[in-house]
Amino acid sequence: MTLPQALSAFEMDHIGIAVRSLEEGFRFYKTLGFGVMTIETVADQKVRVAMLDLANQSRIELLEPTSVDSPVQKFLDKNGPGIHHICLRVQNLRALLADLKKAQVHLIDNEPRLGAHNCQVAFVHPRATGGVLLELSEESSQ
Ligand code: ZN
Repeated sequence: MTLPQALSAFEMDHIGIAVRSLEEGFRFYKTLGFGVMTIETVADQKVRVAMLDLANQSRIELLEPTSVDSPVQKFLDKNGPGIHHICLRVQNLRALLADLKKAQVHLIDNEPRLGAHNCQVAFVHPRATGGVLLELSEESSQ
C-alpha cells in the first residue's frame, strides 16, 4: 500500500511524554539546560502541555493530565510515566486522513481536530502502526 503523499513531506514534529506533573517531568530537562517551560492547556484532550524546543525543529512534548478521565491519565494508570506518542508534521492532513481511511487504516480521529499551538491534529491507532500511538499534525496556515 502506497499513499500519494511523498515521504519527504513528513517531518518529526515531537515526541509526547506522559508525566504526572509538568514540574516533575521538566526537572531532568532543566538539568540538561532547557529554560522555562511554556505551558498550554489543550481542553479537548484534557492535558496541560509543555513543549521543549530542540535544535532540529523537533520538540519534546510533556503531557500532564488535567482530569481523571483524560486519556493521558489512563495511560499513566496503565504504564506509568513514559513515551506516549510520536508526532509527524504533514502538509495536508485532511487529504492524508482520507487516503488512510481508503487504505482501511485504523484511525482514532477521522477528522482533524484542534491540538496544541493551534495545529490541526489526528491520531492513528497503535494497532495500525506496530504499537505506537501516532499523531499527525498540520501547522495552521496563519
Ligand atoms: Zn503530541
